[in-house]
Amino acid sequence: MDFDDTPEEAAYRQKVRAWIDANAPKALEAELRRAGFASSGVESVDPMAASTAWQKKKAEAGWACLHWPKEYGGAGASPIERVIWSQEEGAYGALSSQFIIGHGMCGPTMMAWASEEDKQKRLPPLASGEEIWCQLFSEPAGGSDLAGLRTRAEPASDGSGDWIVNGQKIWTSGAQVSDWGLLITRTDSSVPKHKGLTMFFLSMKTPGVEVRPIKQANGQSGFNEVYFTDVRIPDSQRLGAVGQGWEVSLTTLMNERLSIGSGMSSGFPELFNFCLEAEIDGRPAVDDAGVRSRLATFAVRQSGLKYTGMRALTALSKGETPGPENSIGKLVAGSTMQELAMFALDLQGQAGVVMDEDAPQNARFQGMLLRSPATRIEGGSDEILRNIIGERVLGLPGDIRVDKNVPFRDIPTSGRKG
Ligand SMILES: Cc1cc2nc3c(=O)[nH]c(=O)nc-3n(C[C@H](O)[C@H](O)[C@H](O)COP(=O)(O)OP(=O)(O)OC[C@H]3O[C@@H](n4cnc5c(N)ncnc54)[C@H](O)[C@@H]3O)c2cc1C
Repeated sequence: MDFDDTPEEAAYRQKVRAWIDANAPKALEAELRRAGFASSGVESVDPMAASTAWQKKKAEAGWACLHWPKEYGGAGASPIERVIWSQEEGAYGALSSQFIIGHGMCGPTMMAWASEEDKQKRLPPLASGEEIWCQLFSEPAGGSDLAGLRTRAEPASDGSGDWIVNGQKIWTSGAQVSDWGLLITRTDSSVPKHKGLTMFFLSMKTPGVEVRPIKQANGQSGFNEVYFTDVRIPDSQRLGAVGQGWEVSLTTLMNERLSIGSGMSSGFPELFNFCLEAEIDGRPAVDDAGVRSRLATFAVRQSGLKYTGMRALTALSKGETPGPENSIGKLVAGSTMQELAMFALDLQGQAGVVMDEDAPQNARFQGMLLRSPATRIEGGSDEILRNIIGERVLGLPGDIRVDKNVPFRDIPTSGRKG
């Protein structure tokens, strides 16, 4: 691949740069650059308000959801134009973190499966940031093995055609601030697990939906438990046919892999800068042979990540769907981020245990360390990604699937049938 812009790409970049320069919330730039990973990191103002304002501004000028068609609030841009936008948006991109699930996963799923009327109604407010969406997939018994989920949707007994939902979801990011959710349920337990699922979308304000935030190790509550008690959903909010939920969920999961895997940073530039500033025995840490050796290892991995990402870009620029590159990228970036944060904390000595804005680098590596296990789980855990790479890249034998073709209700759970 030629990494330089074509004349058209250079002109597009110029246009993007000029608009961002004239419109971005510059007062927040330094704070956003200092921010830890996976959070907007804005503390001087309400992060939600800052996020919503930036999204609204982008939408009004036609820069929201670049990859979506124009009629649904997007810009109909090419994948390369989208990459150029995100390179130019830089630190301000962190302001969009609360929209990643809606824009990257729920929106594309609605586009593929909802009625034209629902697409016209639901997608523009999602693109402009007026509405936030969440992904109600994982359950205590359905994570990596999502098809093991137990939340039930049954036809209402009053003949209305509505569905009544009972059950529990967990790890639902952003549910506490979401207006809408994409919900996968079990509608038939007499068939094998993948075949008895049905997908819906619903308002998070529907009676019977209860959101309980989960307190995390870093003090934040980014995700939640969501309980459903006799929640009534009209049949018109079903996506796909009854029993076709697995197929619908694959649209979401494919887009999730593209959203989460692409262009992940491992934190190497931040570590390198820190090593220039930090001192060991009165000399810059970067002069220490041990530090240089670790930096070299991280630099090699960082290059591997960069060029693996470029391979995905090459596929996109040719109009192809990227292969397993994003699985490789996420697998390496997640563990590198964790190792790198631990190394940075070691270099900080006693200050490494302090999580305070006066700590070195405003505690960004502390935040990175506490966040990294989540990165290694969300959107496919390390082991699941290794299975994907083993099966689809290396052609190794598939994972053992003992419940294949077994009716869901006959799969034993903790010694009883479910
Ligand atoms: C930050 C974050 C945000 C999330 N946001 C959402 C969200 O918005 N909506 C949502 O629905 N879910 C969300 N999740 C949940 C996420 O999708 C699940 O945590 C993930 O799929 C793993 O499922 P689990 O937690 O049930 O772990 P399990 O599937 O129970 O896995 C436990 C362990 O067993 C290993 N394992 C499982 N199966 C295999 C196998 N076949 N071979 C080898 N090892 C295996 C796993 O790798 C893991 O180490 C989020 C998770 C995180 C961390």
